[in-house]
Amino acid sequence: MMEVKLLYHTPEPERAIAVAARLCYSTLGGEELSETLTQKQVDGVLKTIVSSGHHSTLEHASYTFSVEGISRSCSHQLVRHRVGASFNQQSQRYCEIDVTGDSWYVTPPSFAADEEQLDAYWDAMSGCAKAYQDALKEGVKKEDARYLLPEATKTNIVVTMNARELLHFFELRCCNRAQWEIRELACKMLELVKPTAPTVFKDAGPQCVRSACKEGRMSCGNPWTDE
Ligand SMILES: Cc1cc2nc3c(=O)[nH]c(=O)nc-3n(C[C@H](O)[C@H](O)[C@H](O)COP(=O)(O)OP(=O)(O)OC[C@H]3O[C@@H](n4cnc5c(N)ncnc54)[C@H](O)[C@@H]3O)c2cc1C
Repeated sequence: MMEVKLLYHTPEPERAIAVAARLCYSTLGGEELSETLTQKQVDGVLKTIVSSGHHSTLEHASYTFSVEGISRSCSHQLVRHRVGASFNQQSQRYCEIDVTGDSWYVTPPSFAADEEQLDAYWDAMSGCAKAYQDALKEGVKKEDARYLLPEATKTNIVVTMNARELLHFFELRCCNRAQWEIRELACKMLELVKPTAPTVFKDAGPQCVRSACKEGRMSCGNPWTDE
């Protein structure tokens, strides 16, 4: 089971965004706007931003997550999001991976659903674990021994994304077209940020939440639900 926690976020994210947006059309400075904008004004500005696509203002709200226990395969997909996103990941060069037992790797549901496939999967993982441990015992450096570990190996990562990138990330990765693991991660992240900025994230998620799916023949045919 992956664990996803929202560690920190910009205080009053919607106010921070509204102040930045309002500043563009005001003679007042950011400090005065921050102190004087009423909640009703903040809500009004936010609705305009979301509907008008003035999305650079969303970059003023930032979110930091702790993600534990995802596979290296999933983390590789995650770090492809380059814009408005920062990552720090547990190093397999410096950390020895504890490959005892079966909690050091992720088991995809398609393997878990079939006893024969699951046995084969476990055997493969045990083989990797043994090769890794043997290599370390023989004096191979951690940074080289890790080449023996599979993509299923669990990893921990700290991720910071601004609200603009989060909306884009949710659009791609909450979609049924995304792989199950990163989809689970994205949906958990969405669940965590929604209460902090309800107007910004109200219609967050894949395109089918807001309009027709544009995936064409790749479409899953099932409009999204966050149930
Ligand atoms: C279902 C699915 C399948 C995928 N399959 C593959 C695959 O088979 N192979 C593969 O390599 N990747 C694959 N990917 C990853 C995908 O190609 C992207 O790398 C990933 O989704 C990150 O999204 P992004 O490029 O929008 O990046 P982000 O970093 O999130 O960028 C956000 C936006 O900024 C803009 N931007 C970012 N960088 C640039 C730039 N250099 N120039 C101009 N504009 C820029 C773009 O508008 C971009 O959409 C897949 C992704 C999904 C969701």
